[in-house]
Amino acid sequence: QASQRIRNFSIIAHIDHGKSTLADRLIEYTGALSKREMEAQVLDSMDLERERGITIKLQAVRLNYQAHDGKIYELNLIDTPGHVDFTYEVSRSLAACEGALLVVDAVQGIEAQTLANVYLALDNNLELISVINKIDLPSAEPERVKQEIEDVIGLDASEAILASAKTGVGIEEILERIVAMVPPPKGDDEAPLKALIFDSKFDAYKGAISYVRIVEGRVTKGTTMKMMSSGKTFEVTEVGVFAPSMRIVEELRAGQVGFICASIKNVKDTQVGDTITDADNPADKALPGYRKATPMVFCGLYPVEASDYNRLRDSLEKLHLNDASLIFEPETSIALGFGFRCGFLGLLHMEIIQERLEREYDLNLITTAPSVIYKVTTLKGEVLNIDNPSNLPTVDQIVSIEEPIVIATILVPSEYVGAIMELNQEKRGTYSAMDYVSKSRVKLIYELPLSEIVFDYFDQLKSRTKGYASLDYELSGYKETDLVKIDVLLNGEMVDALSFIVHRAKSYNRGRKLVEKLRGIIPRQMFEIPIQSVIGNKVIARETVNAMRKDVLSKCYGGDISRKRKLLEKQKAGKKRMKQVGSVEIPQDAFMAVLQIE
Ligand code: GDP
Ligand code: MG
Repeated sequence: QASQRIRNFSIIAHIDHGKSTLADRLIEYTGALSKREMEAQVLDSMDLERERGITIKLQAVRLNYQAHDGKIYELNLIDTPGHVDFTYEVSRSLAACEGALLVVDAVQGIEAQTLANVYLALDNNLELISVINKIDLPSAEPERVKQEIEDVIGLDASEAILASAKTGVGIEEILERIVAMVPPPKGDDEAPLKALIFDSKFDAYKGAISYVRIVEGRVTKGTTMKMMSSGKTFEVTEVGVFAPSMRIVEELRAGQVGFICASIKNVKDTQVGDTITDADNPADKALPGYRKATPMVFCGLYPVEASDYNRLRDSLEKLHLNDASLIFEPETSIALGFGFRCGFLGLLHMEIIQERLEREYDLNLITTAPSVIYKVTTLKGEVLNIDNPSNLPTVDQIVSIEEPIVIATILVPSEYVGAIMELNQEKRGTYSAMDYVSKSRVKLIYELPLSEIVFDYFDQLKSRTKGYASLDYELSGYKETDLVKIDVLLNGEMVDALSFIVHRAKSYNRGRKLVEKLRGIIPRQMFEIPIQSVIGNKVIARETVNAMRKDVLSKCYGGDISRKRKLLEKQKAGKKRMKQVGSVEIPQDAFMAVLQIE
């Protein structure tokens, strides 16, 4: 049977352990792409990804490999995003595979996302092949890392492949091991169609394209396909494989990985994790594990120029076409005017979208500080989901507020355990467990409010451990907490976009530090500007921005025209990101200031 020669696999790794480099090497070795095409880096295609060295959106590539047994195998490498925000997508990609390469850096050893990904792979019953990468580095300690793999993950690491994605050592061994160890896909060609969507993408000509693993049955052009979550049907216009660029084929059948086009207008109709079946001969049950991607982090996005509003909306719509997990709706701020409240899977997702809007769509934006969703029970008995602090009902209307809690796993060298415990204490964390990963490294598990992670947790973690800690977290539920809203008044006027929600015990400190910070950020103007932070009607802190004394131009002695012009231009550029709020000009930084205190 043809599927006997198919191997579907993924690569799982902590960020920077070499997943993309290894994928490139495998592609190069199997000759799927020319050197020149390689430079375009198929697997990490967006500029932003390459710059940040992260993998955001997964895709697939087919490698044809002639193994030592003389037979040619079809190896489908399904790439996974390498960041905690995209866990659900990772889990769906892994569900499309039978095996995974577990890549561990020979210097760094196991990190938080190595573990998180291993758990996802084990949930999906994948055959794991351990690869210890970067053995070319002088400081590589493959034996120590092997021991960690055995002790922490419980895998037999005696067979771990020692590799260097940089020099190419071990690449052939990896390919042979995939052929030998990863089971060929099971699944009946004749059963009703079940195709797992592990990614989707919008194409201007073909519409939304579903990237699929066929689990049972077959699909061809002309099949009436049905999305099992929504019941919507579409007629298939094309099916194909990644060879590595998209190539149309007659049919996709059980075990294969490929794509399906059906003139679908919106990626919302091709949701990751959903099952495609044949409307004329439907499967009775969808594949397990589907859920809707739910945004966890929200912020306001406002154009600096009000006239850019429509362009911002169009750009968000375009991004949404390719990314159903990005949500947005119109929002009005008294301070900032018309904009959008946007929801993201996490902080990185938020930064990526903001950067793309600014770079690819050339928009000048004011973004407000990110917030989580609070569940607020009111006196009337309603439960409100509040994703914008300024929408929090007044204190006399609130019965209780619940906030989202995550379970965080932190891996760190043992000398930093004290620092982590202190940080987690400050961040209202609850200790849950601690284990030694090796003699010198420790795994800590804590419950933490998501709002504290959004606040500045990651930066703090990195700076307090000199970058040695790694973090992974997942939402575990909601918990009632004593929270209050702090509002900020500038020149006596409330700036709604600066409001934030904070634990009562921290409110005075944070309210005071915020006004101090704002005093440094808001430029002097022709008049004095009082800055106050208030809880309800009570002022908790006050600072003043003094009035400007002299015109900036008076700094230019001797009437040097070109110098004067330069200064004016500089001022103008600086102003770009200013927003006139009432009588005061506020720079973009001010809206993020709340994240930068402490
Ligand atoms: P990813 O985040 O897991 O996709 O990691 P990348 O593939 O982007 O690699 C992270 C960094 O490690 C890059 O600077 C790579 O050039 C480097 N790298 C990857 N594999 C090796 C290796 O085998 N040896 C050495 N010395 N560097 C490597
Ligand atoms: Mg990568």
